[in-house]
Amino acid sequence: MNAEIIAVGTELLMGQIANTNGQFLSQELANLGINVYFQTVVGDNAGRMRQALELARSRADLIVCTGGLGPTQDDLTKDVLADFLGRGMMYHEPSLRKMADFFAARGVVMVESNKRQAIMLDGSDPLANETGLAVGIALTQDGTHYMLLPGPPKEMKPMFLNYGVPWLRGVMTGEVPLVSKMLKFAGIGESALEHRLIDLIEAQTDPTIAPYAKEGEVAIRLTTRAASREDGLARIAPVETDIRGRLGEYIYADQDVTLEAKVLELLKTSGRTLAVAESCSGGLLSDMLTAVPGSSQAFLGGIVCYSNMLKHRLAGVPMEALEGPGAPGAVSEQTALLLAEGVLARTDADFAVSITGVAGPDPSEGKPVGLVYVGIAFRGEQPRAFELRTHGNRETIKLRAAKHALYRLWE
Ligand code: ATP
Ligand code: MG
Repeated sequence: MNAEIIAVGTELLMGQIANTNGQFLSQELANLGINVYFQTVVGDNAGRMRQALELARSRADLIVCTGGLGPTQDDLTKDVLADFLGRGMMYHEPSLRKMADFFAARGVVMVESNKRQAIMLDGSDPLANETGLAVGIALTQDGTHYMLLPGPPKEMKPMFLNYGVPWLRGVMTGEVPLVSKMLKFAGIGESALEHRLIDLIEAQTDPTIAPYAKEGEVAIRLTTRAASREDGLARIAPVETDIRGRLGEYIYADQDVTLEAKVLELLKTSGRTLAVAESCSGGLLSDMLTAVPGSSQAFLGGIVCYSNMLKHRLAGVPMEALEGPGAPGAVSEQTALLLAEGVLARTDADFAVSITGVAGPDPSEGKPVGLVYVGIAFRGEQPRAFELRTHGNRETIKLRAAKHALYRLWE
């Protein structure tokens, strides 16, 4: 949140008094973690006060005004703000009663203009004045917060500290809802993603940028605070555009959906079906796909061909490709292709995807732990194979292998 302080008073402009309220408020706002970007001084003139408000609204989330809450004709701040925001005015009854008591105790007749000090804007919150008569007010409109405080420091300071600060805390923590947007990535790891965004992450203020990895997927959550979701998304938009400019090809969703759900949705909308041949993932991909409600409309099933014998018998991979001198072996681009083609030929699926790799903990066929091949066959086209070199324990490698297969399907 950033703030602008507007000190109202012709005597400030004429140099008769120094703007110590501006200094005090800047210090206190800094203590709250609110950056003050501008301090403005304006005279007791409605037109120029309006200009000052106009400008402040264009560049600040919080506008704090001091001065001009008194009873005289040059005390205009509440009238100007009411007009500026298009709000009506009303009396704050407790302040009126307090004023009546104040004058009665002194045996003085209260003149009508004193009542002006008890005026609030419709829908505003009162800030009590323990050392004077003019009530302060605070309100939020269209995502901008406004606070009006009296000019005399002995009234302004206790009002701000005892009532203004708690109001601001409420605004900062509870009343202004969080608005966030999730960007989900596939085909890029968490550290690579952070590396490509490091300048943004280090310079982040609003919105905040939180990358995280969960269940084999990487996501970024962009968060801000705003009165409405629309306002929040507008604030998030420039950062999102920047991120898309750098990593757009990896973003598969801008909401919290899994990659398997996204792939199934794409298959369903295009009326296509999918079958799988899983070796090292041991059925994990099928499990992930069938966890999505409605998956039967696009996912036909497949085989778990863990042994070479079943790769041969169920998917038709020739034994010569799997074993023996000079054979590419079970974990190879060629076997991934043959598995995908074999499953496609044995089902009515439009797409077939295969996964074969070394889940560890020991190398296999002289190939390193974490080496995975994914094959994709599409009816009527040349099958394609992709290599993935990853790391981790068996569980992680299986998960990453399955997610990589989904990524290649989505891509
Ligand atoms: P009042 O009821 O006294 O009229 P007000 O809220 O209308 O209070 P002003 O009339 O603008 O406030 O100012 C009243 C007095 O408060 C000034 O004469 C000055 O002594 C003090 N004051 C106002 N603004 C500031 C400021 N920015 N910094 C320091 N003192 C100020
Ligand atoms: Mg005054």
